[in-house]
Amino acid sequence: MPVRVAEEWLATCGGCEVTVLDIGEPLLDILPKLQFVHMPVLMDHKYFGQKGEKDKLEIPEAEVGLISGGIRNEENRKVAEEMRKKCKILIAVGSCANFGGIPALGNLSTNEQIFDTAYRQTCTTDKAPTPNKDIPPFTDRVYAVKEVAKVDIGLPGCPTTPEMVAEALTALLENKPFKLAERSVCDECPTKREKKAVAKLNRPLDKIECAPGQKLDTVRCFMELGYLCQGPATRSGCGGSEKTPRCVKAMMPCRGCFGPIREGANPMVDMMGALSTIGLDPKEIQDRVALFNRYIGATARLRPMPARR
Ligand code: SF4
Ligand code: SF4
Ligand code: SF4
Repeated sequence: MPVRVAEEWLATCGGCEVTVLDIGEPLLDILPKLQFVHMPVLMDHKYFGQKGEKDKLEIPEAEVGLISGGIRNEENRKVAEEMRKKCKILIAVGSCANFGGIPALGNLSTNEQIFDTAYRQTCTTDKAPTPNKDIPPFTDRVYAVKEVAKVDIGLPGCPTTPEMVAEALTALLENKPFKLAERSVCDECPTKREKKAVAKLNRPLDKIECAPGQKLDTVRCFMELGYLCQGPATRSGCGGSEKTPRCVKAMMPCRGCFGPIREGANPMVDMMGALSTIGLDPKEIQDRVALFNRYIGATARLRPMPARR
């Protein structure tokens, strides 16, 4: 009997769904053992019956539930609760589901500020009242899925990696444990480190200079070159079996999308320590709170800031 899988997306960009589809060849190995019974990105399954005839939100029962996105409105909350009810094992896929992700940067503002900006304060928008008909109400802030429903496995990353999704599904099919590494991105980074910065902090989007085809183990650590790289405070795993971190491989500093190295770690404190150790001043970084928590703003990490004068 194939294992029944249900997939749902909440406050999400859809990138994590593409990751599931991106598994590629390994998906061919596990696909015959799986039966997708619900997946809005692929199949048009309505919550209230195909003709809207039911009065209660319903998702089919499944052994495994995959859920991406955080909780931004009351409909997201109900869908997450229904997934928990109907799925024996619930996997939170991606940083939005695990920590709120980029949408949880909204937690720096109150809902009133968000609506005011969206509907009345942008110069490209005709001023209008906040819509309140036929749309689910906002929750008071963005929540991670685990804040409203028990999650059995969390796969971080923005998006998470196809390899990690395949590994988690394979472990479940083979009844083996699945555990994330508790190492930092730096632990898997091949760049050269000399524990001393040779430049002041650059703007985050400045291009890192390198010769065409230059091997990474001949390039100096980006942070020591003055580029803000969140590798020291971020969980490893994005490089998969090849190990080289995804962004570093593309000559980009780590942005921290895999979240804290372990449950409860504080990336802001870890980054301040890492910067100071090599002689960089964390106070030079503007908007530090948002930057170091940009993927993990749920679980009360980000709160509305006092109004600027
Ligand atoms: S974690 Fe990133 S890729 Fe996945 S849904 Fe959220 S924003 Fe999209
Ligand atoms: S700070 Fe960035 S570039 Fe430097 S070792 Fe860590 S991950 Fe690599
Ligand atoms: S290097 Fe950092 S930002 Fe890039 S994919 Fe890996 S964890 Fe995410």
